[in-house]
Amino acid sequence: MKYISTRGQTAPKTFSQALMAGLAEDGGLLLPQSYPYVDAHTLLQWRELNYADLALQIISLFATDIPRADLKAIIDKTYTKEIFGSDEITPVRTLHDGIKIEGLSNGPTLAFKDMAMQLLGNLFEYVLTRENRFLNIIGATSGDTGSAAEYALRGKERVNVFMLSPYGKMSEFQRAQMYSLQEANIFNIAVRGMFDDCQDIVKALQNDHQFKQHYYLSTVNSINWGRIVAQIVYYFKGYFAATNTNEQKVSFCVPSGNFGNVLAGHIARSMGLPIHRLMVATNENDVLNEFFASGHYRPRDAAHTFVTSSPSMDISKASNFERFIYDVVDHNPDRVQHLWQQVAIGQGFDLSLLLDKIHHQFGFVAGRSMHSDRLQTIAQVYAEDGELIDPHTADGIKVARQLREIGEVVVCLETAKAAKFKETIQQAVGADVSIPRPENLTNLEELPQRVTVLDNDVQAVKQFVCTQLD
Ligand SMILES: *Cc1c(COP(=O)(O)O)cnc(C)c1O
Repeated sequence: MKYISTRGQTAPKTFSQALMAGLAEDGGLLLPQSYPYVDAHTLLQWRELNYADLALQIISLFATDIPRADLKAIIDKTYTKEIFGSDEITPVRTLHDGIKIEGLSNGPTLAFKDMAMQLLGNLFEYVLTRENRFLNIIGATSGDTGSAAEYALRGKERVNVFMLSPYGKMSEFQRAQMYSLQEANIFNIAVRGMFDDCQDIVKALQNDHQFKQHYYLSTVNSINWGRIVAQIVYYFKGYFAATNTNEQKVSFCVPSGNFGNVLAGHIARSMGLPIHRLMVATNENDVLNEFFASGHYRPRDAAHTFVTSSPSMDISKASNFERFIYDVVDHNPDRVQHLWQQVAIGQGFDLSLLLDKIHHQFGFVAGRSMHSDRLQTIAQVYAEDGELIDPHTADGIKVARQLREIGEVVVCLETAKAAKFKETIQQAVGADVSIPRPENLTNLEELPQRVTVLDNDVQAVKQFVCTQLD
């Protein structure tokens, strides 16, 4: 399987090359020339598989340049009970009103990003060793990506991680989780700006080809194809857990920011998984909700991005959206390039003529959840089901309850654990409720922290990276 760019100006790459490159040279995103189709017979066999075996079946369709035995070893050491807390890896439970929740946040950093990042860390290690190479990961995080990447790559030889985060915008727990890592290959950079500023700096460095080549830069942001591929697996697993036969259909509701998670759902659906609808849940930063309602995509700048109580979704430029739009415009790279030129000059674009296709052929719908909805949903689930959900998952449940039709089975993806967002949970259910937290994280906030604060300035970040590596 070969990987091409959404903008059509990049020579085809292998899976390993796509993994290492992150962004395509022409500024587009890498994706397979076509998505594999899973027939009914295969789907029936897959229903019986455990998580790691299912992951091998799916990922081997995409990672065709890695020998199967090697891929199996990588996957088997990634998706274990030790790392993800149970044999099911992504257990599905049902709330009293019938809404299902697929638990994706049982990994080391208590957010769904571990699902992909733990695999990516092991894939990187494998490819770098095989090719005798070194790599410097530079990434931007609004909270969960950074910690997931750092926990997946901490202490690994051949890799350094430079992680940019918006100064003062993450929860105390998220900061402690990242900044307390003491491994010498982990560098935390807090930028005086918003998440989108951090992302723009990363893009600028990636587009500086000389700098990129000299320092072997790559990224593990949600645009990395390796992450998308890993995420496809839990849509299949969640589907099988929520149904008895492959005749049934399931809808997924996905708390969204960068459109990475739900894009994997779109791919699973394109591969033939019987997904009815894909529900995109946004918070107050509702660019995606607006798009699915109107067909207008109008990304906003940092000044128009709100800081909310579901901070991992405080994103106004959905970096994975381009891969979906590539499918919407029938794989026309010139059209994609034109649309993103309009985005680059701050205009956005209008695909309202394709809205019908987006809703019916691709099954997308969207909804928005605000701070008060979030608090209400957390309180309600606590009262009715006796469990504490995190604010992002609450956004998903709110939107699922709003959009669900009679008889529709909806699986909400749990994207984080409540323990990561104590402030909001206490606001919703009171300060005296104790929030469960894994034992090894009890003293997290008291650990010493390592972080460098820099201005919102590409040069300053470049300088810092050079100083550390030269
Ligand atoms: C990253 C993240 C999201 C958003 O996922 P995308 O793939 O960026 O759409 C939602 N919730 C949590 C907790 C996250 O960490």
